[in-house]
Amino acid sequence: MEISFLGGAGEVGRSCILVSGSEKILLDCGVKFKEREEFPQLDNKTARSLDRAVISHAHMDHSGFAPALYAAGYTGQVYLTKPTRDLTQLLLADYLRLQKDFSPYTQDDINKLLTHTQILEYDQWSDKGKGPIRFQEAGHILGSAITELNLDGKKIIYTGDINLRSSRLLEGAKVGMEADVLIIESTYGAKANHHIAGKDADRILIDNINAALRNDGKVIIPSFAIGRGQEILSTLESFMRSGSLEKTPIYLDGMIKKALKIYRHNAIYLKKEVQRRILTSDDDPFKSEFYLIPKSKDRRDVFEQKKAIIVTTSGMLNGGPVFTYLEHLAGSKKNAMILVGYQAEGTRGRKLLDGAKEIELRRKTVEVNLKVSQAPFTAHSDHRELVHFAKNVRGLKKVFIVHGEKEKLGELATAIRRATGAEVVIPEIGETHQI
Ligand SMILES: [Zn+2]
Ligand SMILES: [Zn+2]
Repeated sequence: MEISFLGGAGEVGRSCILVSGSEKILLDCGVKFKEREEFPQLDNKTARSLDRAVISHAHMDHSGFAPALYAAGYTGQVYLTKPTRDLTQLLLADYLRLQKDFSPYTQDDINKLLTHTQILEYDQWSDKGKGPIRFQEAGHILGSAITELNLDGKKIIYTGDINLRSSRLLEGAKVGMEADVLIIESTYGAKANHHIAGKDADRILIDNINAALRNDGKVIIPSFAIGRGQEILSTLESFMRSGSLEKTPIYLDGMIKKALKIYRHNAIYLKKEVQRRILTSDDDPFKSEFYLIPKSKDRRDVFEQKKAIIVTTSGMLNGGPVFTYLEHLAGSKKNAMILVGYQAEGTRGRKLLDGAKEIELRRKTVEVNLKVSQAPFTAHSDHRELVHFAKNVRGLKKVFIVHGEKEKLGELATAIRRATGAEVVIPEIGETHQI
């Protein structure tokens, strides 16, 4: 049996892994956003030869290239959870709209993907219980899954993106499985990556917002439309309700509101406690009197407010409505921007965190005076949690580390080797390994 790393190896983005045994199964099929998109190293012939494909969760670095499988002539099924299907549909439509003529696929291909989806519940083998695919809770975003493969007598676990801690809305990832081979993400795999407790991250966020509001400033919180966006909103809502955060209009911009609806429709995938709040109603975290939607395209109504909190895409400042807000608000020291998620190398978000005083937006240079800070909300596990996950896989012989920046992978490899005694490999993109 072989595993080929077609994307997402030594990088974050375009996750795509091919497992070839008696069947060919593709694990994820994403795009990578840099200055321009990069796609997995997957040719049409290989795409057509696949037996099955899996999408671990809706984020575009795992799902964004999947319709291209159908453009290439693939006719098989894509396995995913129901929330992943709903959220992927939303994201792909948006991607196509933004790409226009440059997209690697058409609406037709997206439709083909949607008619070829096979919904799997957590903890249930595909093919009426016979396998070879089973999902487990990954704790990363709504519907995110760890994939277990049982193929030709070998057990493989692919983590996708995982978060072992439970968040405001979701339970943490399942720990304690069995496998010969583990393919594990490593976004925050470096030893220095040690996440603070959720309540401390809340504190940093709320303190930073309150400081800006006291100065009559506006606060931009760029966020991933899916996952962080909903966690941030429910954090703001809860602190505002309790009075720890000044009562201020919260504007939802970009896809965040639509995704919020999907979260609510798929409430059975949320934490029990959140489900109960939705059911008993007057405490519904998805409905708040503070939530507002900008009325006009130029967002004038938002800028006319004395104070406002704006939660908007995109999380790493790659594009989307956050550009409009930055054009208007970046120049003033009164305003603030709080980055809440992972900022990949080369993105505007990373540059600003590193202290850049100007940024390029729509071919214009914009001066940055607003206060930039980071509240470490994260949907990924840190170094210690990743090692803990690997250590709790029974029968483990081989580990592949993916979905991380190259220079940071060595430390995680050493730690997992020490903790498990398994052979640990850091594959390069384009490599094929025997297992
Ligand atoms: Zn993700
Ligand atoms: Zn990812």
